[in-house]
Amino acid sequence: MGFILGFFHSIANTIKYPICILFILAFLLFIFLTFSPVFGASPDKNSRVIIEGSENFVTGKFLNLKSNYTNTASLSDSSDKGSTLMSWIFPAEDKNPIASLPTIQFHGNTLTEGKFVWLGHSTLLINTAGLIVMTDPVFNRASPVPIFGKPFAYENPTNIDDLPKVNAVIISHDHYDHLDSTAIKDLSKIVDRFFVPLGVKAHLERWGVDADKISELDWHDSEDYKNVKFTLTPAQHFSGRAPGKINSTLWGSWIVSSEEVKVYFSGDGGYSETFKELGERYGPFDIAFVENGAYNADWSDVHMFPNETVQASLDLKANVLFPIHWSKFDLSIHPWDEPIIYTTKEAGRRNVNITTPMIGEVFDLTNLPNNPWWEALRN
Ligand SMILES: [Zn+2]
Repeated sequence: MGFILGFFHSIANTIKYPICILFILAFLLFIFLTFSPVFGASPDKNSRVIIEGSENFVTGKFLNLKSNYTNTASLSDSSDKGSTLMSWIFPAEDKNPIASLPTIQFHGNTLTEGKFVWLGHSTLLINTAGLIVMTDPVFNRASPVPIFGKPFAYENPTNIDDLPKVNAVIISHDHYDHLDSTAIKDLSKIVDRFFVPLGVKAHLERWGVDADKISELDWHDSEDYKNVKFTLTPAQHFSGRAPGKINSTLWGSWIVSSEEVKVYFSGDGGYSETFKELGERYGPFDIAFVENGAYNADWSDVHMFPNETVQASLDLKANVLFPIHWSKFDLSIHPWDEPIIYTTKEAGRRNVNITTPMIGEVFDLTNLPNNPWWEALRN
């Protein structure tokens, strides 16, 4: 008996330290998830009433327009689950750039009326009708913890201090590569107006934006601000920046229109017939910024393959396609430049007018850059 008790005692002694450590780690994780501002906040009573009245909010969650969507396009026949898993475990050698990406130093005063500039991924600035509008401002890691989501190095990075006066910011959804809490904090006092999908307002308020500066919209809602109209439109995606919060806020694409220009900004989303419906209802567009990158077979409902990016721009009746959502973060399993290689090829094959400015390069619709700058990073 004494031998058995001694045996259990020595086992208990051996495992008590790892169990203690696990308990402390679980407790710290709980504290982090509960109190860290990076996860945002839950909508207040007023927002909740609007959210619960939305026809897109069903059984406590936002839903996509179609839940039975079947993806018909893919990059290659090898896109089965097994090969996807292997690609995560053994990433391609060329998954990340071999050097800093060549970029142009952006000077805020060069963004005059009618000009655009892309700062990488989904961050853009548009100057129209006297307003400077910024999309999904991300200037830091695409992650709540400092070990993931590091941006690629840029030769000439743009910081918030380099920006011109930004009048309005639009947010597509609350994922970390689109909604950067640090950037919102930095912008909270210097931006006049924020346009967000339903439920996202609470995040911005937690990060210091005054509630009366934020417009929270449902799909197909529009709001005029000065001489520019902002319309939130559907996208096939999802949301959530904390466990248990999946689809508790809305996601979407945006249309920014003025007397001078009509712009479509896709945010994130898989291919669906929604693009055709948007093209019929709101098109044609002078330029469509459409997601291109962070795809794989498992995510084909919520991100597009390059051939779908091109098809979406045709469906939207876009005069110019500008592929975004690439060249800043390593989020999926493909090489960093694969999206733009395939998309430019497909656009050429289908006679789609595509523009590929460098990051930081100011341009307008009469001067559309088409320099394959990414090729410099291939041997
Ligand atoms: Zn997303």
